[in-house]
Amino acid sequence: MTAYLVGAGPGDPGLLTVRARDLIARADVILYDLLIGPEILAGARDGAELIFVGKQGGGAQVPQADTNALLVEHARAGREVVRLKGGDPFVFGRGSEEAEVLRDAGVRFEIVPGITAGIAAPAYAGVPVTHRNVAAGVAFVTGHQARFRAERDWWADLDWDALARFPGTLVFYMGVRALERIAEELTAHGRPGDEPVAIVERGTMADQRTTHATLATVAARAIEVGVSAPAVTVVGPVAAIGLQLQWRELRPLHGRRIAVTRARAQSSPLAARLRDLGAEVVEAPAIRTRSLEAELPMLAGHDLLVVSSPNGASELFGALERTGLDARALAGHRVAAMGPGTARALRAHGISADLVPERAVAEGLLEALADVPVASALLLRAREGRDTLPDGLRARGVAVTVVALYETVAEPLEEETTHALAGVDWITFTSASTVRFLAEAAGGLPAGPRLASIGPATSAALREHGREADLEAAEHTPDGLVDALVNHG
Ligand code: SAH
Repeated sequence: MTAYLVGAGPGDPGLLTVRARDLIARADVILYDLLIGPEILAGARDGAELIFVGKQGGGAQVPQADTNALLVEHARAGREVVRLKGGDPFVFGRGSEEAEVLRDAGVRFEIVPGITAGIAAPAYAGVPVTHRNVAAGVAFVTGHQARFRAERDWWADLDWDALARFPGTLVFYMGVRALERIAEELTAHGRPGDEPVAIVERGTMADQRTTHATLATVAARAIEVGVSAPAVTVVGPVAAIGLQLQWRELRPLHGRRIAVTRARAQSSPLAARLRDLGAEVVEAPAIRTRSLEAELPMLAGHDLLVVSSPNGASELFGALERTGLDARALAGHRVAAMGPGTARALRAHGISADLVPERAVAEGLLEALADVPVASALLLRAREGRDTLPDGLRARGVAVTVVALYETVAEPLEEETTHALAGVDWITFTSASTVRFLAEAAGGLPAGPRLASIGPATSAALREHGREADLEAAEHTPDGLVDALVNHG
């Protein structure tokens, strides 16, 4: 039996240590705090017990004694217990008190350091806590601990004279209400009023915000912008460097909350790209594809094969495999892919598409095929695909066979996701079926968020639901949709 006191870092799931991630993945029980995000907890295995021991909705903290008792009880029962704490477990996290409890109970323990908010939040704000010739030291300061000693004023715990004289950067982990007092005490004890201050709220999270001020202006500035917890406050000349070195809040989609409705299996590249550009992504898959286990007709008679989606590509190879065939069955055929994603999926199976239209829609493919001699085309696609392509080809005298390889079905939305959807800035739609099924699952399209459409067919589906797309991608691909969101500003 071992209990692990694990630092989960400041919020960005990418800042978990490898050790923390491994332990989270295999834990039987995880006791976690308020600031531990769902993406971090999603790393737990199925069946792990997740117990919240932080500050509850109303603000009351689960008593420390209860947390201690849970730690010991689960460890003694032979379970792998991970006590997951924000930042670093030994920096203002009461991790040391929990280690003492474990030691006294005879439970073996391990401490896994994490990146503390006082380093990570400034770094994500472009504020170096030390800088050559500017700050040769850094002090982490809190008043929180003494808050539990109700009868004492916690300010009395801080030696303001020493803090003011400290030759380096001061990083305060404190309630935002303390800001005015921090500024007053430091200036009263000799720090200059024009000394730079940076407040970093929700550091490293998708909606991080940095406010720059000076000791003289910070109190008023904090009220003006409505600073709220959690936040760290950096005092010292380094704070101003953040104005030159800021990077995270400059990312083009920083602070935007964007929902992705495409099928879970296909959403990650789009979600990852949006996240890289700074967006907070809400994954709300409205659809999923279901294989129809279709049989392919003889390929020999067709001089053109059209694959309409990445999923169609993997279905095609599944169908070939079921009949003991492989990519060689496509030798000698002209293969067209509806868009770059489909072309990529084909390439993964060893097939380079002969034709990928510039506009990734049926109309674009028809244009691209205008000068290509075709006698007989085989279209491999979703059951609910549009008739534009087969009709257009038939009008040219082409014999067309349509084979539905899969169908798109609704993915039920969890209540939490429906709730989260209402609060996003944008909902992205990558096909008409994402519109239809999302509207169905959510009981209509949410009124607040703006709607981003990948192309005309998707915009038409929005119109059917009484809504106009607020933005339509010029290039009808997921990347095109991302570009449109970035350009929209
Ligand atoms: N053990 C944690 C600190 C716990 S005390 C660590 O090492 O980071 C809680 C205080 O940490 C908050 O009041 C706030 O001042 C600070 N804090 C925690 N997460 C933060 C974040 N993402 N951004 C800014 N401040 C944060």
